[in-house]
Amino acid sequence: MKNNIILMKKLFYLTFVILIVFSCKNTVEKPKQNKIIKQDTVEVKNIPVEKPEYPSYLNINFLMGKFDPSKHPEFVKIEDKYTNKHNVYLDKKAYNAFLKMYDAAYKDGFKLLIVSATRPFYYQKGIWERNWAKRKNIKDPVRRAMDILKFSSMPGTSRHHWGTEIDLNVLENSYYATGKGKQIFDWMSENAYKFGFCRPYTPGRPYGYNEEKWHWSYKPVSKIYTRFAKENMKDEYISGFKGAETAKKIQVTKKYILGINKKCYK
Ligand SMILES: [Zn+2]
Repeated sequence: MKNNIILMKKLFYLTFVILIVFSCKNTVEKPKQNKIIKQDTVEVKNIPVEKPEYPSYLNINFLMGKFDPSKHPEFVKIEDKYTNKHNVYLDKKAYNAFLKMYDAAYKDGFKLLIVSATRPFYYQKGIWERNWAKRKNIKDPVRRAMDILKFSSMPGTSRHHWGTEIDLNVLENSYYATGKGKQIFDWMSENAYKFGFCRPYTPGRPYGYNEEKWHWSYKPVSKIYTRFAKENMKDEYISGFKGAETAKKIQVTKKYILGINKKCYK
């Protein structure tokens, strides 16, 4: 009996000691865990976020085409052999990339012709107001504006303001469905990206302009402007032409400026 009591006492002390050791182990380890969590938090904070600086000339007026491309240091006049227009300009980098693409296409038997490039605000206003006048039978201003917006931008919201956009050869999707048009489109689809060009108005987007098989964008520059628009542009800035008051209701910035093929900015 006495032996049993001694044994029980020993067991009691042993359990007590084990408990102490374990509880001590936990108290010792706890700060260690905290330290690891703290280190993780610090590391996450220190990961550099990729956010390149915007060029110094980039502001809302630039984005909205309220500048003269013939006087802008980033712009260059397109040589007559590459366009059927006079006095049309492009962003220098976009133009250099176009020249390389032109040569490559030419070697493969295709001639790329720029039929539209930089279009300043006042130029777009001319296009818009001609379209607005043609639709005087549509009484609801939002419906009237949305009908124009199938293919034409509101002044201040066109990518053509930026100097990074070109319309090539023929402004008809049907032209690119057969024959020479299809061959050109197939060549562009296969090769344009090698020179930095993407197609912002592809089919199947949830909103925005209809498909445009002729419109190409120089992505290395236009993706920066697209990001700037996403961060800074507001429908309230859109004014100065007939029907401008519809911009907010239509959500032009979200649906038209930013309603493009994701491959053009990601
Ligand atoms: Zn275009």
